[in-house]
Amino acid sequence: MDPILKTENLSVIFNEGKSNEYVALKDVSIEIFPKEYIIFFGPSGTGKSTLLYSLLGLLQPAAGKVMLKGRDYKSFSEKEINLRTAKSFGIVFQQYNLLFSLNVLDNVILPQIFIGQNQRERKEKAMGLLRRFGIEARAKQPPAMLSGGQQQRVAVCRALINDPDIILADEPVGNLDSESARIVMETLKSINVKDAKTVILVTHDARYLPYADRVYFFKDAGIDHEEKMKPSTNLDLAANENGPEGKNAGLERLARVHPSLSLPELKACALSNWLVEEVTPEQRKRIEASMVKLLAGKISEHQFFEELNLSYAKGGAGLYSSTAATLVRRVVHISREARIYAENLKNATDESRKHRLAKLLRLYVLEDHKGNLIEEKMQRLETVIDERIEGAVRHEGFIKQLSTKFSAGGVGFTPVVAQRLAERMEIIMSLKN
Ligand code: ADP
Ligand code: MG
Repeated sequence: MDPILKTENLSVIFNEGKSNEYVALKDVSIEIFPKEYIIFFGPSGTGKSTLLYSLLGLLQPAAGKVMLKGRDYKSFSEKEINLRTAKSFGIVFQQYNLLFSLNVLDNVILPQIFIGQNQRERKEKAMGLLRRFGIEARAKQPPAMLSGGQQQRVAVCRALINDPDIILADEPVGNLDSESARIVMETLKSINVKDAKTVILVTHDARYLPYADRVYFFKDAGIDHEEKMKPSTNLDLAANENGPEGKNAGLERLARVHPSLSLPELKACALSNWLVEEVTPEQRKRIEASMVKLLAGKISEHQFFEELNLSYAKGGAGLYSSTAATLVRRVVHISREARIYAENLKNATDESRKHRLAKLLRLYVLEDHKGNLIEEKMQRLETVIDERIEGAVRHEGFIKQLSTKFSAGGVGFTPVVAQRLAERMEIIMSLKN
């Protein structure tokens, strides 16, 4: 695969030739591939933002070059530069940078003006995004009435409105409390995973590193080294699986159906049931066998992909490469999710555990259902989630409450949605407690 963005021996010098000359980047060569989630990490003043704005084409290199999809920035005309900025990139800053004289909706629509979309389409698209991120109700308000976290989500909507391939985010959660920060980070991650956008995020906060596929570590005006994040190998299969509150009901149920399976096999089985639909039982067996190896850290993500993609006749699962790639991504994603969730809970009290899981699920629900939930419904949802976490209701009861009509005191989801949400919750809770 060709890189979507690339620099070759890039150097950037501020105030070149003057007494206050400053070399902000020296000889930096990087390659970023489509759909990657990249973090630029390092202490303040090491050139992270400088590299980000160089990729955007805002800074002139003193030496070396920057390329978008193989094309050197030097070869773009003025007009092409403007289009490149508007169409290929969405940007999120630390200071939200919303216009306080415009309402939320108009802030989101603003970048569309540069690419001349018609007004009705613009509005619909913007409302769709606001809905997705749970801030639709704020559309007509001025940004100043929103919390910091909500303002940053508006900025994320604005960054997405032109449907760019690449999202650049410069310390996007630097000003937010940890809970709002998490929501914004989850939002950016879902843009990477669900919308398949390349995300490049600058941060000096190591807590966020697990969100990335790959991290460039910055030091002294350049990159010291890079690290590929390997979420799957961090899955701790030896962790205590018999925690309180019946947290592993999903796995317990499976164990009843498949009494001979070991714990890693059960996990793979739960994951494959959840992630894979149209395969033969024999293919499913092979997928699960490969997944067990991946979850145990015995094979790499790449080898996992190869085994899935290898033809059935040769002993593989025989999946199309696109299907295999999607499956690898989703397994890696869900493992990472479970791990981030677990890390977040390490020192948490029961109360904040509950709160956090409820938040996480709330975010999924809002995204999956385009934010169509009225507040009362949301409250009911959170109550049943709490009850489920406490073990006051079992899995089946949980599904029942989710799918009972709103007028009859339930949450009012369709059975399919209720089932999906309940399973998602079991998976997240059961992968690691
Ligand atoms: P980081 O994002 O890693 O904190 P920056 O890329 O913003 O670092 O800055 C790297 C260095 O370049 C800093 O020492 C900063 O002071 C300097 N710098 C950044 N922008 C300018 C500018 N416009 N003029 C002069 N120096 C700058
Ligand atoms: Mg910076």
